[in-house]
Amino acid sequence: MVKIKIPFNGDFLCYNHIMKIYDVIIIGGGAAGLSAAAAASKLGKNILILDMGPQVARKVSASGGGRCNFTNMAVSAQRYFGNNPDFVRSAISRVTPPEILDWAKNHNIQYVEKTAGQYFCATGAETVVKALLQDASHATIFTETCVNTIVKQDDCFYVTTDKKNFVAKSIIIATGGTSFPALGVSDFGYKVAKQFGHKIIPIRPALCAIGTKIFSPDLSGISTDVEIQIGKEIIQDSMLFTHFGIGGPAVYRATVRNFNDIIINLLPDINVYDLFQKAKQTSGRKTVSNILADKLPLRLARWLCSDTKNIADYKDSDLKSIADKINRLVIPKEDIKLHSLQSAEVVRGGVDTSQISSKTMESKLCKGLYFAGEVLDIAGDLGGFNLHWAWASGRIAGENA
Ligand SMILES: Cc1cc2nc3c(=O)[nH]c(=O)nc-3n(C[C@H](O)[C@H](O)[C@H](O)COP(=O)(O)OP(=O)(O)OC[C@H]3O[C@@H](n4cnc5c(N)ncnc54)[C@H](O)[C@@H]3O)c2cc1C
Repeated sequence: MVKIKIPFNGDFLCYNHIMKIYDVIIIGGGAAGLSAAAAASKLGKNILILDMGPQVARKVSASGGGRCNFTNMAVSAQRYFGNNPDFVRSAISRVTPPEILDWAKNHNIQYVEKTAGQYFCATGAETVVKALLQDASHATIFTETCVNTIVKQDDCFYVTTDKKNFVAKSIIIATGGTSFPALGVSDFGYKVAKQFGHKIIPIRPALCAIGTKIFSPDLSGISTDVEIQIGKEIIQDSMLFTHFGIGGPAVYRATVRNFNDIIINLLPDINVYDLFQKAKQTSGRKTVSNILADKLPLRLARWLCSDTKNIADYKDSDLKSIADKINRLVIPKEDIKLHSLQSAEVVRGGVDTSQISSKTMESKLCKGLYFAGEVLDIAGDLGGFNLHWAWASGRIAGENA
């Protein structure tokens, strides 16, 4: 009999010596956990996956609006964010986008390239889930099993759940991030990491909309192509006005980055001041909003300049300030409220990567303890980068655990 003290409440649990000892227990059957299970299975390991949900891979099923944007040819360290984005280099050099496409082909997953290099399932995310389960078919999977504690004693990990208790030689924590709770999330990965001495980088929503008072709720529903400047980087994508601010791909991509003020160019291909100057010469009796309505949705053009004065009657300085509001609209950091974790696709923050080996995903503080996927302080850009990280980090953890 092994007597184990439970960390969070101080109770003791007794484990029978004849209990099965798994080579690896994977906590979390999401993208990273299933990828880890497939890799460990290939090495003949004896694996158990524990997931608290009614089924595994719920975020994969919901991803990409149900069509799962599962990889991107532009995968590189520049598309990942965290305290040390270079942490991803080793994993993404070993698990590359072409390899993921080959994996999809081998599983008869039909896919489409939506924008350059961005790959979605043609027939729905469930084909990816099915393939993941096929690869992990040698693993035992218990769903609706919530892991409560993990204790290490005598080179074994003792795992308690709300159902049964288990023992393993290695553990992979693949519990994901805490965004989008409707799909079933927990902070257990962060708690257990802390318990083993790991630092947690504070969590915040990312790949999400922004609440700001700058825009009127009347603009809600308008979508337009913009450029968003974050520091020296320019993001070109579409932006959607909402009743509380702005969303859409350009804004989602801005929120995963480190930002202060956000600068938006509502008409990226046009120097609006030059446009006004030309119009003053050639169409002096047109109003500014009519000139803008040729280039922008009417409601937006009217919000930017609602008066009925002819352009010829404007002072250049007034035209310059209207043009700046279009080509260089600054949303100061104080006026940016990230929309909540409820609707964010991922989190920034998580288990500090400086205490994890990027080559194996093993904790530098506790032998046999591994981390993979979004639970780590790594968030990818919009476009398939997060699932790619889950596949890559999961595979590396599974090969080494
Ligand atoms: C709506 C939405 C759409 C998205 N679309 C895309 C997309 O198209 N492309 C892309 O690249 N990324 C997308 N993402 C992000 C991507 O889904 C995640 O980054 C990825 O799924 C993370 O994988 P993971 O395995 O680390 O965690 P998860 O997939 O979240 O899996 C974690 C698992 O751990 C389990 N778990 C947690 N705590 C416990 C516990 N105590 N005991 C037992 N089990 C536990 C959970 O039930 C869950 O199954 C999307 C996210 C959302 C929310």
